[in-house]
This record gives sequence, structure tokens and C-alpha cells, in this order.
Amino acid sequence: MDDLAIRGGHLIDGTGAPARDADVSVAGGRIVAIEPRSARPARRVIDARGLVVAPGFIDIHTHSDFTLPLNPRAESKIRQGVTLEVVGNCGFSAAPALPGRAALLREYLASSAPWLPFGETSYAKYVADFPATSVNVILQVGHHTLRLMTAGMDNRPLTADEQTAMERLLAEALQAGAWGLSSGLFTAPGGYADAAEIHTLARVLRRHGAAYASHVRDEANHVDAAVAEAIAVAEATGVHVQIAHLKLSGVDNWGGAARLLEAIAAARRRGVPVDCDAYPYDTATNPLRNLLPRFVMEGGIAAMLERLGRADARARIRAELARDGLTNFGRIPSWDVVRIAVAPHLPQEAGHTLGEIARRRAVDPLDAVCDFIVADRGETRVLITSMSDKDVHEITRAPWVLVGSDGNALATAGVTGQGKPHPRYYGTHARLLGSCVRELGLLTLEAAIHKTTVGAAAALGLRDRGVLREGAWADVTVFDPARIAERATYDDPHQYAVGVSTVVVNGEVVVDGGDHTGALPGRVLRRQAERVFA
Ligand SMILES: [Zn+2]
Repeated sequence: MDDLAIRGGHLIDGTGAPARDADVSVAGGRIVAIEPRSARPARRVIDARGLVVAPGFIDIHTHSDFTLPLNPRAESKIRQGVTLEVVGNCGFSAAPALPGRAALLREYLASSAPWLPFGETSYAKYVADFPATSVNVILQVGHHTLRLMTAGMDNRPLTADEQTAMERLLAEALQAGAWGLSSGLFTAPGGYADAAEIHTLARVLRRHGAAYASHVRDEANHVDAAVAEAIAVAEATGVHVQIAHLKLSGVDNWGGAARLLEAIAAARRRGVPVDCDAYPYDTATNPLRNLLPRFVMEGGIAAMLERLGRADARARIRAELARDGLTNFGRIPSWDVVRIAVAPHLPQEAGHTLGEIARRRAVDPLDAVCDFIVADRGETRVLITSMSDKDVHEITRAPWVLVGSDGNALATAGVTGQGKPHPRYYGTHARLLGSCVRELGLLTLEAAIHKTTVGAAAALGLRDRGVLREGAWADVTVFDPARIAERATYDDPHQYAVGVSTVVVNGEVVVDGGDHTGALPGRVLRRQAERVFA
């Protein structure tokens, strides 16, 4: 007898093929049959009449390693139908934390993981201690973290010894279960690395059959060169490169989506193993300090806080921002487009813009920004509306651009339900299948599902996931295509998406009738066991 049958639904299998009516049978965690009007006996039958039955969605770029230990039910994600999260992105990972360096890592990551406890840990111990969760997880080790463990916040090339140490830490993480390396060359300290440092690390990845994901060096005025730098890693080393959250920030760069997409598409036509992902929103989120010139963070957080209090440093920041726009975000119309998301030490300011705060305090906006960072000890996270809708739609429409929320798994109650985080943490996939498909008509439902299932699985090299076929793991999402929608907004972000009725992970029902069952069947996926080209 089978464990589970999902009957009567419209099956969209993830390959891009049109919907067809078929029943899905599950036993032992795997899909054992897909056939019209199945008569196989099953312990549990789910009625999917009028609903779409799809592979569980793959959120290919997230930071849920910062929240899954606090919210292992992964509520904001699983309720959108996400069954696999790729974490440890943008160069940030909570491990390794070498003896004597855990406090440095905690301080560095406080603006991204304010509530996560940090302790000394090897990468192997981190993997072993990773909690049971509702979603499957792919872990990556972060280049910022590796640099913090070797050269701290120094703005310089690595010494030969430090380079060797970094390569050893990377190899240890890969052996322990990291899928690959992520980088965040847009900010310190990873941004202090030159291209050669990354190529050396990519050769370590190559030896282990592992992958590279990059938040590129610049997403604003120098985005073309930054994307070219990422493509060059794939071209030179053969390692698969995932370009994170593709975008054009800053009003001077708006309208360039077609050009940027074509640069990546051209590399793919040449056979270069490169993919990219995006979230369907015109607003980014980042630590506030990352909007300032890179020199600000030299020497670490304490040095930064001291520097931001000084008139000479502020004058230099002001001059550099006037010339170049915000670091990594380019020119913005005003500080009214930068809004406080989470301020651990000034929680009452969540939701207010820096423009408003400056007017209230009757100070110049840049002084308000510097004062705010100092008062919040460098831990402030902001939302910044820096993209054009037209570019976002053009990128979303491309059938080969994958889907990454760049967001954490949150819950409306509990420690992760604080502040006003980006609504994409709750809504990326629901927005894609809801407003992008149904209202804006950017792409068909089959194409949208392909991006976040079979397309994502191919980029990751997953053998038996992301697709509805006999023998594959039973990660399945059942939703109402007429009703699926995000409910989270910038003003009221802690709201679950609607329209997803059933989610199955590794054959276990996690969302049942729209409610979380409490099941934690997710596991950390191992490259050696799950990857085609390991
Ligand atoms: Zn990023």
C-alpha cells in the first residue's frame, strides 16, 4: 500500500510541458507512480480537484541559515510551496567560526542574523548540528566568513599563508557537506579580494565537484563588469557559477535589463556553466552600512563606528557618494526610498525612511544615516527601492532566469516575527505564480513553475528532485492557480501567502489544508548523494 496519493489535480511536472490530469502516488519518500485515475491503494488520499500539482519549489538563493535554527518549520517559505532552500549565500555563513573568532563573526553578521546564537564551530560540527527542518536545505560556505577567519576585516590581498589557510577551510567545508562557495564581492571583507583570489578558490571547488554562487562586485554603475567577472570564473575553471539576484540598481542604470541578460545568455550559448536568479521586486534589502563607500568598514565594526563619528570621514563619504552614488546601489532620488527594516537597538524606527528621520531630527540626511548606524551599532538593515519595474519584469519574464527570494524563512509569531523585513521573505513564489503570471501575464504558469523546479534543479545538478516523475523524491506542492497570492506588504510584511493547500517534503505532508502540520522531514542535501556531476 502506498503512503499517499494526490488525486484529481492538474499536473504541471516542471519540465515546461503543458498541464495534464494525473494522480501522483508516493511511497517511501519517493514518487512511485504518475498515472491518470490511479486505483492504487493508499493510506492517505488528498483530493486535488481544481488544483495544480507541481514539484516543490526550489528557492535557489536564500539566507535562511540565519533563521532555520530559530524557525525550523520554515513557515514563510513552506506556505508558499517551497521545499528546498539554498542557504549560505552572498559570502555569508555562520561557519566555520574558529577559536577566538566567533565574536568577530557574530558582530559582523548581526545586521543579517541579529537573533542567531553564535559559537565556535568547525564546518563539520555546524553541519552535524544543523536542526531538522520542514524544508530541505543546501548549505554553502561563505567567502566573507573565510576571509574573516584568515585576514579579518583587513583591506589587502591575502598573504601566501592566509591563502593556504583559506583553501584548507574551504576544502574542509566541502568535505563536511557544503554544496559550494558563495561570495559577496559587493562589500567588505570579501570585496577586498581580487579576481585571482576567487579563481584560486574556484580551482578548489573544481577538484571537489562543487559550485560557486556570487553576489557580484557591483549591481549598479559597474554591473556589466561585475557580471563579466562572475562569468569569467565559470569560463576559466569550468565550475558552475550562479549569479545572485540579478538587477540594475540606481536610476542611471535603469533600462539595461536586456543588455545584461544578453551577456549571460551569450555565455550560456558558448557552453559556459552559468545561471542567474532574481526576485520579482523593485526593492532590495541590505545592511545600511553597505550603502556607504567600502573604506568605511576597514578594520572592522568598532573602527567603522569610530570613523562614522568623525567629521573628516563624513566629508569623504559625502564627496564619494556625490560622485558615485550609493555603493552598490547607485544614484537614488532621495533618502526617502531607504526605509528601516530591522534596527535591533532602535526597534521603534522600523518602517520609517532615512529621509523622514533626517527631517524629524532636522539634520542633513547623510548625518542622519551615520548617526543611525552608530546608535544601532552597525546592525541596521534597510529596504532600498533602487530598481525599475520595467527591468524587474524583463528579468522575471526570461524563462531561464531562476527564482531566489534572497530572504529568510520567518514566522509571524516568535523571534523571527520582528521588525519590518522585506515582504519577499513571505511572498516571492506566491507573487511569481500570482501577480506575475495571473495579473501581469509575464509568463505562463508552466514556464514559471519550470524556473523554480526543473530549471533550478538543473543549475544545482540535482538528480532526483525538482520534477514530478516516477523515482524522484516526493517534494510536491498543491495550489489553487486562481487564488495563490502574496499578502505581505512593506507596511505589514509578516503575513503568510495564500492559495497553497498541500506541501509534501520527502514524502511527508508538511502543509495540510493550508496549515502547517509541524512535520520536520527536511534534511541537509549532500553533494555526493544528490548531484549528477559530483
Ligand atoms: Zn546578495
